[in-house]
Amino acid sequence: MKLPSLNIQILLGAIVGVLGGLSLHQLGADNAATQNSLYFAGIIGTLFIDLLKMILIPLVFCSIAVGIANLRQHQQMHRVWTTTLLFFVSSMAIAIVLGMAASLYFKPGSGLSLPMFQDAMQHFSAKQMAPAEFATQFLHSIFVNPFKALSEGNVLAVVIFALFLGIALVMGGARYQNILSLLQEGLEITMRIVGWVMRLAPYGIAALLVKLVATQDAAMLGTLLKFVAVVVGTTLLHGVIILPLILYLFTGKSPLWFWQGAREALITAFATSSSSATLPVTLRCVTQHLHVKPQIAGFVVPLGATINMDGTALYEAAAALFIANLAGVELSFAQQLIVFFTAMIAAIGAPGIPSAGMVTMVMVLQSVGLPAEAIAILLPIDRLLDTLRTTVNVQGDMIGSLVVQKLVK
Ligand code: ASP
Repeated sequence: MKLPSLNIQILLGAIVGVLGGLSLHQLGADNAATQNSLYFAGIIGTLFIDLLKMILIPLVFCSIAVGIANLRQHQQMHRVWTTTLLFFVSSMAIAIVLGMAASLYFKPGSGLSLPMFQDAMQHFSAKQMAPAEFATQFLHSIFVNPFKALSEGNVLAVVIFALFLGIALVMGGARYQNILSLLQEGLEITMRIVGWVMRLAPYGIAALLVKLVATQDAAMLGTLLKFVAVVVGTTLLHGVIILPLILYLFTGKSPLWFWQGAREALITAFATSSSSATLPVTLRCVTQHLHVKPQIAGFVVPLGATINMDGTALYEAAAALFIANLAGVELSFAQQLIVFFTAMIAAIGAPGIPSAGMVTMVMVLQSVGLPAEAIAILLPIDRLLDTLRTTVNVQGDMIGSLVVQKLVK
């Protein structure tokens, strides 16, 4: 019997995972079958993520250096740079405006009050972090000893060092041909390993989703229903309407075409809640299914995985307004602007790992004097919301690479 294509297997894996998780939820956490299943799901899911992370750093390193080195002409390099950054900032700005507009209109949290959540807040103490301090910290994390960054898996710092290396390769021209060939072969070989890892993706994704769905607490979701609805609604609006519209306007490609090529990466992002772990899959989809040239994809996608986060930006802004409502604080227009900018900085600074947005959100709250401890209220539902925002984060990177490719032509 012939197996269905990998794409279909991954989709089936996701469906089986969600259904399996729901049935385990029904059985209850104390049931022996539930405990055993969760144990195995935990092992398989973690192995899948470990494999992706294993290949991540060599892949990012080679892909950026080769990508930049192949943008030989100066002019072209400059345009890719500027267009990419412009795309990232504008798409995040649109996402934040959507999240804020919906929150201002629907006012989630206005019927509830902070004291209701006192219990959750007592067990949580937030680390103080002013925007200025956060920005300094972020700037300091950009230029790092490459060996340290490579061994610690610091994606952003690896991206930056590889950028320098790529530029040096361009400047050096034929003189460094051997190093360039070595990196090129490195890239090919890591992509080959990604192909092997992807064969396991259907099982890994099923296992991750079983565990996620089975261990969620539905009660908290009910209390925060309006907020969840606003976040999910606007994130979907951004992912299903706005981003595909941008894609269509700039490249003329249909959403269906995009979904077919991007499906593997989107489902992996949903299941892992990590843009970084998904990065090998994202690169594979963009270069192999969506036909973005490796030199563009190699630059836009890894950079985007660490700094371009539409879903996170939207979430941080919406959550800040939600907490303001809970605290009964009316934010002035100036304060709303501060939320807009800090949400963007927080999304840029958030690493592509699960719940990273929660950590950087402390800064957004503190920038307008809201109690940072209030994020304790959001923690129980964060993993669930993280699935969707990570998917949109990754989608933004893929659409970004397609738009940039079109614009620099
Ligand atoms: N999990 C998200 C990502 O990896 C970051 C976040 O927590 O918002 O893209």
